[in-house]
Amino acid sequence: MSQWKLIRARGWDGAIPTEDPDGRWLHLIIDSDSSANVLKRSVLEDLSDRIEEIPQQEGIEAVIVSSAKESHFIAGADVSSIGSAQDRDQVIDLCRMAQDLFGTLSNLQVPSICVIRGTCLGGGLELALGCSARIGVDCPPTRIGFPEVNLGIIPGFGGTVRTTQLLGLRGAFDWILRAHRLPAPIALRKGLLDAVVPVEGFRTLSLQLIEKMLEDDLRAVQARRKKRRKGFVNSLLDGTGIGRALTSRVALKNVRHKTMGNMPAPESAIAVARFSASHDAISSFKKEAAEVATLALGPVCRHLVSIFQDSEVIRRGAPLDPQGVWPSNRNLLILGAGIMGSGVATVAIEKGIPVRLRDISEDALDSGLKAIGKAIATKRKRNRISDHQQSEILSRLGHGTDLAGVSHCGGVLEAVVERLDVKRAVLAEIGAHLPEDAIFATNTSALSVTQIQHESPVAERVVGLHFFNPVTRMPLVEIIPGEFTDPSAVGQALALARKLGKYPIIVKDSPGFLVNRLLCPYLDAASGLLLRGISGTTIDHVARSHGLPMGPFRLMDEVGLDIGMEVLETLFAAFGDRASASSLLSTKNVTDNKDEHLLAAMVDRGWLGKKSGTGFYLHHGRNAVWNRKLGKLIDAPATTISHQQIIHELLDPMVDEAARCLEEQVIDDPGFLDLAMVMGTGFPPHLGGPLRAADSEGIAALVERLQSAHQAGAARTPCALLTDLARRKRPFYSLRTTTGSV
Ligand code: NAD
Repeated sequence: MSQWKLIRARGWDGAIPTEDPDGRWLHLIIDSDSSANVLKRSVLEDLSDRIEEIPQQEGIEAVIVSSAKESHFIAGADVSSIGSAQDRDQVIDLCRMAQDLFGTLSNLQVPSICVIRGTCLGGGLELALGCSARIGVDCPPTRIGFPEVNLGIIPGFGGTVRTTQLLGLRGAFDWILRAHRLPAPIALRKGLLDAVVPVEGFRTLSLQLIEKMLEDDLRAVQARRKKRRKGFVNSLLDGTGIGRALTSRVALKNVRHKTMGNMPAPESAIAVARFSASHDAISSFKKEAAEVATLALGPVCRHLVSIFQDSEVIRRGAPLDPQGVWPSNRNLLILGAGIMGSGVATVAIEKGIPVRLRDISEDALDSGLKAIGKAIATKRKRNRISDHQQSEILSRLGHGTDLAGVSHCGGVLEAVVERLDVKRAVLAEIGAHLPEDAIFATNTSALSVTQIQHESPVAERVVGLHFFNPVTRMPLVEIIPGEFTDPSAVGQALALARKLGKYPIIVKDSPGFLVNRLLCPYLDAASGLLLRGISGTTIDHVARSHGLPMGPFRLMDEVGLDIGMEVLETLFAAFGDRASASSLLSTKNVTDNKDEHLLAAMVDRGWLGKKSGTGFYLHHGRNAVWNRKLGKLIDAPATTISHQQIIHELLDPMVDEAARCLEEQVIDDPGFLDLAMVMGTGFPPHLGGPLRAADSEGIAALVERLQSAHQAGAARTPCALLTDLARRKRPFYSLRTTTGSV
């Protein structure tokens, strides 16, 4: 069955209009058999067949391209075929076919106008750019953009070249390098759309607009596009070789600052856009396709596509996940209006969940409410929401120091202080009033969920829901069932996390859960390097160059050294020397010549990191300089080792700990472990996560290094799984089964 319909009609009365052989409009409608429209090769071939039929239609005035789906125009090209591409010529062929096909849309006997309602991403936008004009429908599902660079490629169905032709270099860089997904009014302002209509009655309104566009042969549309690109600066930067070189150089500098040169796709996009700004369309399209082929067959694209595919499984729900629903219209009661409670409240009200925020302290409540108000106001300032949406979002927030509303809430999230006695007391207080179908979720970062729920009359409804800071930005949530948690509570927690737009991964109730457990050996190793006399700023710089969002010392300052120490102590208590190489961490206080623990010594001095202004760095607003007083705590002469050695020493223990988590079934699947590290810590996505990175290098080399480090005095020895894989020359991903579990 064809995925595209060609319907001649007089009007536009529904998703698929009523056929009328005398109608003036020819509707070209995508209606694929899956939930989202995706541009697979078969869909493109179908489109080609339909387009070939268009010249036979006499008396039509325009071709209207739209989708029959409510919330999707076209979600993009087929990601799995990008990730599995083997043959360079095949990739080039597919790109050239799509480039030509979309180009024919603007060369028909009549104008082609695209009406975009719902997601219009990647290939979908490239198709729209092939049309003579584009109308966007203003509704929440409409999101327009090029996510390609996040997958390690560039728009290759003509999108890079056509965006440059339409908007000039700066416009193209803005859309392609930033991988925006923007609502219709912003896409109009940025010049990618020609008009926007409200969603109510959008079909009739679009037809009226199209009539108007046709009246003057689209001259008003062209004039508006021309006007955007007029002016001295535009003609200098787009119209001269020097201007184009300058614009491209600035873009490249910004990209390299962000990616540290680890992501080839944005650099390719700059090269193709710059080329197409001064060459004919045919050679530009050829270059675009050739670049896509090079990128698609490279390791970075493979890794990014794999991460994306796993994230989609998690977003939709892994096959073996317990099922559950979050009850609509019922309150989420959040206990604790601190950093985490207010963060979750912000996300919840934005996602349409009514919240009641409770704190025992009026002051804490006040500052929590201020933080929420500020976060929503920033969205308004950036035009991400309208005035009306801002007040609608804030109207979902209730607050107080009492327990009002608990007996009819849909669930409770506690984000109170990290103390077992306090968490258990809160559960006892709430448990008595908790509705029978509501969960009690705890945001603990390191306490045992089983210990929290133990002996509670509602133990089966207690579940860990570990968000990461800052909640508004971090996509990962760890879901932790305790020993007494009922699967239905896990299902409900998963549903809540998804409703909040997060990616929930189920992990075992064990010390540090997954992400903090893997992060600690890395932070511990960084402290060890520092105490051996290696410069802290060099260590941070090397980690950044490897692709981590920040170095280990900047990260510890962000988290807070007191919190970091608490988590380290929990892990030390559970796993002994391996978890906190205390021999490395104990340091000599040069002043009074006594042994101290580095973090303890810093916390004792009130150096808690960013929040106290002093930590490994001295923080002044956005600036930070290394805290030279730390020298007094380091009893080793300054020394240097190679950058590669620093990376190995930082990351090898993390991979060993990751292997132990697989052994102990803290998590079942290597892919989900890698995804959790990318989403929870910003582990370089271009490497695909710690396990994929180890697989790419070969596990034997890693085992050898860990063994040498142990012989040199490190507490850690490579775990059994690691040595076994090295011996059998098998990668971590050989443990992956088709169901996604080891
Ligand atoms: P916070 O100190 O900023 O806030 C805790 C709030 O809880 C305070 O405002 C306090 O007044 C309030 N509170 C104490 N007892 C209460 C009670 N009985 N009822 C209602 N409110 C009460 O702490 P935070 O950083 O938001 O952390 C909260 C929880 O989230 C902790 O368990 C922490 O381990 C966890 N967590 C924190 C982070 C982080 O980076 N801060 C990350 C993940 C998880």
